[in-house]
Amino acid sequence: MKDLPKHKGLRNQLVKTIKRKGITDEKVLNAISKVPRHLFMDSGFIDFAYQDNAFPIAADQTISQPYTVAFQTELLEIEVGDKVLEIGTGSGYQTAVLIELKAEVYSIERQKELYEKTRKFLPRLGYVAKKLNFGDGYKGWSEYAPFDKILVTAGAPFVPKPLLSQLKIGGRLVIPVGDNVQTMTLYIRKGEKDFEKHELGEFRFVPMLKESQK
Ligand code: SAH
Repeated sequence: MKDLPKHKGLRNQLVKTIKRKGITDEKVLNAISKVPRHLFMDSGFIDFAYQDNAFPIAADQTISQPYTVAFQTELLEIEVGDKVLEIGTGSGYQTAVLIELKAEVYSIERQKELYEKTRKFLPRLGYVAKKLNFGDGYKGWSEYAPFDKILVTAGAPFVPKPLLSQLKIGGRLVIPVGDNVQTMTLYIRKGEKDFEKHELGEFRFVPMLKESQK
């Protein structure tokens, strides 16, 4: 569990890379420069931690590509104290980035193994989420709704209705939508029934699964 100057140096390189790819929000870049991504990956993969690539973690899942994490986070326009719902906790890397931005994070993971692992791991690094849950992200989390921001980190075949309804007015939902390839989609809630929709390019995510699917 070490974060050494050499890791910090590699992170600075990574920040340069994602800047070159178009990320401009200084707060997001700063958060990426702080979160020790190598600690979120199994030890054998440490050498790859600061390349701008997705990587396998437990339970056939991946830690998202840093550029993608930065892109989604930038779209959310996180402000201090924002209540954020994340679907797909996975390794907890994206969760940590949101916590660096001083968001209050509620995160849901549907794989027990990952949920248990990340629940124990994040606090050891000092990243304390507001709530972590083992459950189905298609339903959102009505108990704690409404949210300022909602982020989906798996490829959704469609936009789950509960996620739209659990968004505050003025809130933002960032969700990659599609089967094999996903279109990054941003919804801004303008009123009770009024949503503005923006499509922002193609990405590839692991699929968002129903509880019954394995
Ligand atoms: N944010 C993660 C990305 C993990 S990949 C990170 O930074 O590491 C997407 C995650 O979504 C996987 O962990 C997967 O198990 C989870 N997932 C898939 N379908 C889900 C669902 N219906 N509800 C909640 N989580 C889901």
